[in-house]
Amino acid sequence: MPIRLLSSEVASQIAAGEVIERPASVVKELIENALDAGAKNVTVSIAEAGRKLIEVADDGSGITSDELALAVSRHATSKLSKAEDLFHIATLGFRGEALASIGSVSRMTMTSKVVKSKAGARIKVEGGREGKVESIGAPTGTVVRVEDLFYNVPARLKFLKTDVTERRAIDALITRYALAYSDVRFKLSDGNNVTLQTAGDGNRRSILAALYGVDVAKQLLEINAEEDPSTGSGQVLKLTGYTSPTAITRSNRKDITFFVNGRWVQDTPLTTALIQAYHTLLMVGRYPLAAMFVEIDPEEVDVNVHPAKAEVRFKNQDRIFSFVQRAVRRGLLAYAPVPTVAPALWGTRVESSSKQVGLDWSLAHDEQLTVDSSQFIANQDSQLPPTNHQPPTANIPLLRLIGQIGSTYLVAEGPDGLYLIDQHAAHERVLFEKLMAQHDMKKIPSQSLLTPVVVQLPPASAKLLSGQLSVLGHFGFEVEDFGSNSFQVRAMPTLFMGGDPSAALRAIVEDFEEDEAPLQNEIEKKLAARVCKRLAVKGGQTLSPDEQHALLTDLENCDSPRTCPHGRPTMIHLSVDMLERQFGRRGAR
Ligand code: ADP
Ligand code: MG
Repeated sequence: MPIRLLSSEVASQIAAGEVIERPASVVKELIENALDAGAKNVTVSIAEAGRKLIEVADDGSGITSDELALAVSRHATSKLSKAEDLFHIATLGFRGEALASIGSVSRMTMTSKVVKSKAGARIKVEGGREGKVESIGAPTGTVVRVEDLFYNVPARLKFLKTDVTERRAIDALITRYALAYSDVRFKLSDGNNVTLQTAGDGNRRSILAALYGVDVAKQLLEINAEEDPSTGSGQVLKLTGYTSPTAITRSNRKDITFFVNGRWVQDTPLTTALIQAYHTLLMVGRYPLAAMFVEIDPEEVDVNVHPAKAEVRFKNQDRIFSFVQRAVRRGLLAYAPVPTVAPALWGTRVESSSKQVGLDWSLAHDEQLTVDSSQFIANQDSQLPPTNHQPPTANIPLLRLIGQIGSTYLVAEGPDGLYLIDQHAAHERVLFEKLMAQHDMKKIPSQSLLTPVVVQLPPASAKLLSGQLSVLGHFGFEVEDFGSNSFQVRAMPTLFMGGDPSAALRAIVEDFEEDEAPLQNEIEKKLAARVCKRLAVKGGQTLSPDEQHALLTDLENCDSPRTCPHGRPTMIHLSVDMLERQFGRRGAR
């Protein structure tokens, strides 16, 4: 093919691909424009998950009629004029691309009025072709109406996910902006239903409640830290926001949100810094949930590294990374609760109930411990078959308990060497096998709670749970829909008595939110595994000798004692042979 210049329409469609990927991207750009225009009210309406319609109305500054045509053309912006301005950006937009991009892949109508003019103006753009500017009556502010998104790019349409997923992305986006701009009133409606509405009164915790449920929102820890100006270079560095206490976790990092100077950033090392602050306080594979706001001098951030402006780069990343990590860690330790082991979970009566977790370990100590043990395991890999490669039914020999170390592992001796047992994984396995055995015999003993517990869930989770109440019944839970997203737990499986009913309910729903349609055939097993995981004893809990013995005996009686129900090893075996070799008692090979 000969080389040709692309028509401006094709070129803009290609460029639009980088910025506008899905309905939520349109919502994001339009909300950012509204916020840049100083809006106090932002109203979003969608139909068919945004495919049919996205309309964003604001009461911001508006655009004059003679600038309206310019606003929708590419590389037209009022937010920057020279390249150096990029390093003092205080607005969310600056690329002058969003409206042009949206207009090239939809039928877009923009209506706007500034305070000082009597009438408003309207322009239509269809597949990149701009119409004429017409005069029209309108309130001060701007309304952008985007219809039939991607009507002229059918390939894009094919990449869109289900309506549920696309709508969830829009929901997530608006809630996050509502959190960051808590003094702006946001409203989202889908057809005739208002699905989200915020007060704009600056109260972030009430927005968190809409997002994660009242229970969770109440427990989130407030972080408010500022770098000591005397140590820094006199520059601003602030972290505020909310993060979860160690008892509230998620199975992935999706609920960790960071804003940098009012901009939602994804894929950021800041997330890693936050997770590291929880080092050893959370189980492997669990993540905190958090909404964090970083404020920093604009010159310290490069915001122009991503077409959708979803990433930023810091001039001095290490400084910010360690600031976030330390601030969150300090917050966590200051609020750290003392968890209790529910004695009934052990099948033995134990006197002690409240246990101290190893929270006083310094960060350095924690890190040392992890590094050591992982190196140790890595060294053994060449000589030992990895534990989880053993056939899953391989029983373990009778073990002699030696004790507990680090409030996390049991040490035991067997005929063939030393065993280190992860108490959490082991207990998870034990609970799971007991529960499944009872389930297979079609009788899970259930016990009524003395006082029924009411659990409030976020709306999305509540909807999922109400569809699963009968499955829960098979497992010995008696749960009743209590209206307005709350549920009453009246009975629990005897096996779990003493455990926290609301932790159990949350465990059941939280992963449903990710799998769109839970697999019906595997659902019961997955449910069981998840609940067991949540109610099993955690690492960091001191166990009495009786509890240690009970756990070991129960584990010996399991069919698959070597892994937890999620496949992680419950134990590490240091064979006599390996020990002798390591100590040079046998000739090195
Ligand atoms: P950018 O936001 O990067 O400048 P856009 O294409 O999103 O680029 O918008 C182009 C210009 O149109 C903006 O710079 C702003 O001047 C104007 N504009 C867009 N949306 C609004 C709005 N909701 N209210 C007022 N002005 C707006
Ligand atoms: Mg913009």
